[in-house]
Amino acid sequence: AKTIAVLTSGGDAPGMNAAVRAVVRSAISFGMNVYGVMRGYNGLLNGDVKEMNMRSVSDIMQHGGTALFTARSPEFNTPEGVKKAADFCREKGIEGVVVVGGDGSFRGARDLCGAGISCIGVPGTIDNDIACTDYTIGYDTALNTAMEMIDRIRDTTESHDRCSVVEVMGRRCGDIALNTGIAVGAMATLVPEVPYDFERDIVERMKAAQRTGKRHYIIVVAEGVGHTQELTERIQAATGIESRATVLGHVQRGGSPTLRDRVVASRMGYHAVELLNNGASNRVVAMKGEQIVDFDITEALNMPRIFDENLYRVSARLSI
Ligand code: ATP
Repeated sequence: AKTIAVLTSGGDAPGMNAAVRAVVRSAISFGMNVYGVMRGYNGLLNGDVKEMNMRSVSDIMQHGGTALFTARSPEFNTPEGVKKAADFCREKGIEGVVVVGGDGSFRGARDLCGAGISCIGVPGTIDNDIACTDYTIGYDTALNTAMEMIDRIRDTTESHDRCSVVEVMGRRCGDIALNTGIAVGAMATLVPEVPYDFERDIVERMKAAQRTGKRHYIIVVAEGVGHTQELTERIQAATGIESRATVLGHVQRGGSPTLRDRVVASRMGYHAVELLNNGASNRVVAMKGEQIVDFDITEALNMPRIFDENLYRVSARLSI
């Protein structure tokens, strides 16, 4: 029987466990042997793999994080590292690897393919920053966590007539900021894709809202915009409104995955194994609309990310 392996790599995301579970169970149902690789590509370099059975993935779906652990592996990111990992796969009889992770992990999967091992990428990252797919595993959970946290911040912001500047994750991608900004009714949302003007987009807006009787303000800022503390101090200096910065940070990466993350992860994990079972290689699984599809890895990595201008306009119109 054909033997495959599954690993999680790069930043962890809620729902990765559902993907791993789906890969293991689909593989077994197709009559394959399946290994779980520990700590991303490191497991292929250190021989840290374990044979999985139906029960190895019991009880993991509802947990955040990844039961296989994850890592960033500088050693793998070298030609020697890739060859070593491919040699280990051949030694174990591993013909295919499902890699759950972000863009960086897909580049690794492409390199491992180049070294003769069939690889399939599955998008797992809370940022939703992968161009080829409308959705990445972990995104929905992160959005809901950020929304709940900002709702709490709003309670205290309101009680004190303050302005809260809340930084959410997203280094290159403003999707978390944009959606949570709409969901919490932020007065302004700053994303890395759109430059902002401090006077026009923040100070003037706050003053205009103040004239209509508004006394507390939430501003959502994507991590990639940067300088959240400095921005908060400038707002207080320019408006006289007491302002506080909150960086949500890693709370957004944890927690039990939402239904959407569990279902999408299960569908994507299944699709990845189906591809390997059909002899495909060098593909990434993606979501287009509500359909699960797949693309060539190199093609996927070269796609430009499209920012949702319409959603940005809605957000700008509704926030004041
Ligand atoms: P996230 O964006 O959620 O953190 P990611 O998969 O993009 O996820 P990275 O840290 O960029 O996270 O990549 C994870 C691992 O993939 C790296 O540690 C490395 O082993 C491998 N990798 C990254 N970039 C490359 C590359 N250009 N070529 C080969 N392997 C790579």
